[in-house]
Amino acid sequence: MQALTYHVNPVGWATCKWLRHFWPGCLRSRLNGLKLRDLDPPALPGDDWVRVRTLLGGLCGSDLAIVAQKQPPDSILQAFSSMPFVLGHENVSVVEEVGPAVDAAWRGRRVCVEPTLNCAVRGIDPPCERCAAGEFGSCEKFGADGAQGRSHLPAGSCTGYNAVTGGSWGERFVAHVSQLVEVPPSIPDELAALTDPVACSLHAALRADWSSAKQVLVYGAGVLGLGLIAALRAIGYAGRIDALDTAGYLATTARKFGADEFLRLPPARGARFDAVAARTGGRVHRVRFGNRMLTGGYDVVFDCVGARRSINESLKWARARGQVVMVATSHGGRIDLTPLWFRELTWTGVSGRQVENFAGRRVQTYPLVHEMMMKGTLDVREMLTHTFRLGQYKQALETAMNKSAFGAIKVAFDFRNP
Ligand SMILES: [Zn+2]
Ligand SMILES: [Zn+2]
Repeated sequence: MQALTYHVNPVGWATCKWLRHFWPGCLRSRLNGLKLRDLDPPALPGDDWVRVRTLLGGLCGSDLAIVAQKQPPDSILQAFSSMPFVLGHENVSVVEEVGPAVDAAWRGRRVCVEPTLNCAVRGIDPPCERCAAGEFGSCEKFGADGAQGRSHLPAGSCTGYNAVTGGSWGERFVAHVSQLVEVPPSIPDELAALTDPVACSLHAALRADWSSAKQVLVYGAGVLGLGLIAALRAIGYAGRIDALDTAGYLATTARKFGADEFLRLPPARGARFDAVAARTGGRVHRVRFGNRMLTGGYDVVFDCVGARRSINESLKWARARGQVVMVATSHGGRIDLTPLWFRELTWTGVSGRQVENFAGRRVQTYPLVHEMMMKGTLDVREMLTHTFRLGQYKQALETAMNKSAFGAIKVAFDFRNP
């Protein structure tokens, strides 16, 4: 089978860090650790595992952050991955082969594999406290000690970030039976392929305290931001949602998904603060060296970009005692934490999915997304703008890494017609 693998080579990595300024394509080359390979399909790690055939495999921002070298060389995420790996965790797939301990009725079913490699998947019993509480996205066993479980999986938080399971940037990969979420027939492949990113947005929306919020800001209107706008509306948030981005082509979709206003972020710092102040009724305060602060501001700010500027501005644009939710894979830089303590903000990190508390029920994020997709409250299919065959991976990555140049939102590999 064909698969796109990643294995960092420190010399190649450092060379690309420099070479990318003259040849941006080097990031998508073998020199940067990416390779299209012919591999044997991965073996089942245990009797309660299945092998799936990928239909569509999405390109997630976390994957692109690896390819684009956005994580520093000493990233702590290295503790929660193992190489070489086949990239890709966003998927809609078909179960092809089942282990002896799995109900044979799974064979042929269309599923989304919930990618988290938590205690249940690893065969760790009793599970860690987070998994026992249903918060499996924050499992304590993603590191090397997770190999003690029955499945003997190496370090890795997700399908796609470990050396055993494979990932959805390959034609086939393996999954534990507990990871299978059947896709209802009324949800087409193209919508099902968006389950994972939308689930991450929905999880963020449910982690935020918007019960008394009147105005929230979604900073960044790409896949996560658009999903968040749709998710906030789907769970019943009726207050104002402002979306903000530098790319104007996202405005129509943002409004359609439920944003009241789309602020096209101007490049100058002063103009950005003025725009937010005008919108929120806040006040801009100027200090030395061109720095600025806002009083007033949004009840909740969702940072769906994760860059130094978006983090700093999210902290400054939340009202006192407001909340900032970190939705995107962030890679920081120098952050001014003064607003955090001075204005007693709540700063919430979110990652992945879990068993959610929603409308008096306990339900996993993926099936909840499917329920909402079927009801039509989470109809986000227009987010999938570009699909490519795996052999066109350089073009796919170029599109996904330069979304505004291509008018792209979500890019995915399509394995259905080889
Ligand atoms: Zn992802
Ligand atoms: Zn766990």
